[in-house]
Amino acid sequence: MKIPFFNYQKLYVKNKEAIEEAFFSVMERGAFILQSDLEDFESALAKYTGAQYALGVANGTDALWLSMLAAGLKSGDEVLMPSHTYIATPGAARFIGLNPVLVECGADHLMDPNDLQKQITNRTKAIIPVQLNGRTCNMADIINFSNENDLLIIEDAAQGIGSKFNNQMAGTFGIAGTYSFYPAKTLGCYGDGGAVVTNDTKIADAIYELRDHGRAKNGDYNRWGINSRLDNIQAAILLSKLKTLDDEISRRREIANRYINGLGDIADLTLPPSPNDNENYFDTFQNFEIESGKRDKLKIYLSNQGIGTIVQWGGKAVHQIKCLGFDIHLPFTDKVFQRCLLLPMNTTLSDDEINYVIENIRSFYKFN
Ligand SMILES: *Cc1c(COP(=O)(O)O)cnc(C)c1O
Repeated sequence: MKIPFFNYQKLYVKNKEAIEEAFFSVMERGAFILQSDLEDFESALAKYTGAQYALGVANGTDALWLSMLAAGLKSGDEVLMPSHTYIATPGAARFIGLNPVLVECGADHLMDPNDLQKQITNRTKAIIPVQLNGRTCNMADIINFSNENDLLIIEDAAQGIGSKFNNQMAGTFGIAGTYSFYPAKTLGCYGDGGAVVTNDTKIADAIYELRDHGRAKNGDYNRWGINSRLDNIQAAILLSKLKTLDDEISRRREIANRYINGLGDIADLTLPPSPNDNENYFDTFQNFEIESGKRDKLKIYLSNQGIGTIVQWGGKAVHQIKCLGFDIHLPFTDKVFQRCLLLPMNTTLSDDEINYVIENIRSFYKFN
């Protein structure tokens, strides 16, 4: 058996009919930029997440920096975020002159609310929680901290669409939340795509304008902007995929259960919390990130058995990327990055394939 970490072709074949219907409909209408498919997708996404507004943009990274700009963050402001994130999160902040300040992750690999206090200064203006691996942070603690310290919250929910904390969707807790539709994301398109959700009319108007050269709904230019529009073909495909997103999430949760039932007794492994572990959390398992004391050996063993795994972010937390110049000690995150590994997790996987991954991990541990 060969199980690549992610099988893009198989995902396309699985959704072929719906994708081609959306694609040809757009082609036949010649409707490519800022057309009804985008508006329909934005309404559907707002409804799905429970946010008042959703705005499509070119990718998840633009969604982040456009949100920071729209929220009024200014050059020199410090923003708190976890070091266990994609470089896009601090990169978006840096790109508009903000200073990203990195904090530890906790046992669940998400930003540790208890580490925020250590890193706050009088220049701190915002917190960027990252809803990593399809799990939403403990937003009650983060909101408390932000209220006490008068900080804005902008959520990086690139990996969090559909996940919930206390029944509220990732992306809807702060002044703005962002999603990525990168092809391997839980709601992926066939190229780049992203969105911002917000309940704040001013933020929504600002994003609407910023993404299209500063042009307002009435056609006037209200400010400087750029081109960061969500392509209408992608929007049409996303609209069609949004209709089955809950089924996709159910399947991911099923796969997570299967992994946990099959691997839960191996003492050297630390597994993510199971889907029904804690009623405050509804996890969507964008990724299934385990920890192993023999991570590197296990990765090679699985690779020899035809199973693709990944150490997230190419193996480095943001503070470990030398050229970025972070001078901060995050021992817990360092430890996680010696141990963490992503197992295959997506809805093209069959039960047989998941069982094959489980069997091979079990046979590795028989001899190691
Ligand atoms: C994917 C991702 C992004 C960036 O999204 P793009 O659409 O690739 O720009 C940002 N943050 C996190 C945590 C991500 O996983």
